[in-house]
Amino acid sequence: MCQEILSGNVHTCGHVSAQPGSNALLNDCFNARCRYSERHPSTCSGFECSSQCAQHMGSPILNPTDRVPYPCHSCSDAAR
Ligand SMILES: [Zn+2]
Ligand SMILES: [Zn+2]
Ligand SMILES: [Zn+2]
Repeated sequence: MCQEILSGNVHTCGHVSAQPGSNALLNDCFNARCRYSERHPSTCSGFECSSQCAQHMGSPILNPTDRVPYPCHSCSDAAR
């Protein structure tokens, strides 16, 4: 099952949050029975595809790329 890879900010609290609007990459599962994979045949579509292929992506992977000098939203809310 493919997953989106989102670049994320590493906060001072240690949490990682996805950067809004960041270009998501695809973690390809290389399964021909997954409609998001590059191995998925372009000839597979419609009912055939929906009956035999995975139609959903997994939950996104956060790839921490930037350190930011403040806590994440949920931690700064909890501190209030
Ligand atoms: Zn996949
Ligand atoms: Zn398919
Ligand atoms: Zn946090």
